Formats: sequence, structure tokens, C-alpha cells
Amino acid sequence: MSKSSERVPVSKRQRFNIFARDGFTCRYCGKQPPHVTLVIDHVIPVSKGGTNDDGNLATSCNECNQGKSNIPLPDDSMSDMDSLRLAQDRLEKVTAAKLAIKACRAQEKLRDKIYDHVVELTGHDTWKRKNLSYLLNLFDEFGADKVAHWMSTSFVKTTKYTFNEDQFCRYLGGIARQVREREEALR
Ligand SMILES: [Zn+2]
Repeated sequence: MSKSSERVPVSKRQRFNIFARDGFTCRYCGKQPPHVTLVIDHVIPVSKGGTNDDGNLATSCNECNQGKSNIPLPDDSMSDMDSLRLAQDRLEKVTAAKLAIKACRAQEKLRDKIYDHVVELTGHDTWKRKNLSYLLNLFDEFGADKVAHWMSTSFVKTTKYTFNEDQFCRYLGGIARQVREREEALR
């Protein structure tokens, strides 16, 4: 451990590789340039025997790296066990945050897709906010296949000459209610 505590600078090339691996995103708070300046963070500090191995390097914004964020960073006064535990804790948080960001992006993508589908089906692209979010919630609750099917039914049932989004959503809501009741009865 004595040898690795000499601080060897991380090469430019390795810095770039780590940034690229982490998607040029702070692994602690998820921020990206130009809002923040990215630096390389040693997950286990050099003073605690942390090396320049890729596995010990993480992309961090300046703020997180300086411990100004609310995620605690290991400090030199801690025992090795404590700082290891803290490092582990940080990595878990990072993983959780990453998953949350991923889920969020997937959700956004799904919402875009649903919106496209709704517009395509109805030819109506000036949705009231409340109706649109109602539709999106239905997709969340019942899944895309079911709701897409119900939407076709609602569209056929409620549209003769002109499309009325309120009527369309009311009809859809009626179907959803019936399905909910049926599922409840089965329980
Ligand atoms: Zn950060």
C-alpha cells in the first residue's frame, strides 16, 4: 500500500477514456458540461491506497469532487474500513442514480412514442394537457398494447365527423374503469 500512496497523475488519454466511459457525466450527481467542470475522482483516495486503475477512477464534477454535494466523500481521518464502506456506499448511490436516470430517459422516450401514436391515430395534435397526461397515466397503468387497442375503439366510437378529445378520453376512461372492476372482481 505504501507505494501506491505516491500520487501518480492520471494521463490525458486515461482521463479522456474515463470521461468517455462515464458518458461525460458526473457519476455522483449526473450533471454534464457545460453546467459543470468534469474532473477525475479516485473512488478510494490515493492516500488510502487507491490506485489509478480504471475501476478506481470515476468522472466527477468539481463540486462533487470537493465534497460540496450531499453525498459524503471519504476523508483521510477515517479508518480504511470506514472509507471502504463509504466508497461502497457511494458506488451504490451512483448505481441507483444511474438506473434512475436511465429509467427516466426510457420513460421520456416511451412518452414521446405514445404521443406520436396518439397523434397518428387521432390526427389531433393540440391536446389539452390534462387529457394528454390522463392518456399517459393509462399507458403506465395498463401497458401500451391494451391502451392502444382501447384507443382505436374509443376513436371509432366517438368520432363521426369531428374528433373531440374530451369525448375520446371519457370513453377511454369508461373502458379502463370496466377493466379495473373486472380485475378487482377476479382478486
Ligand atoms: Zn457532480
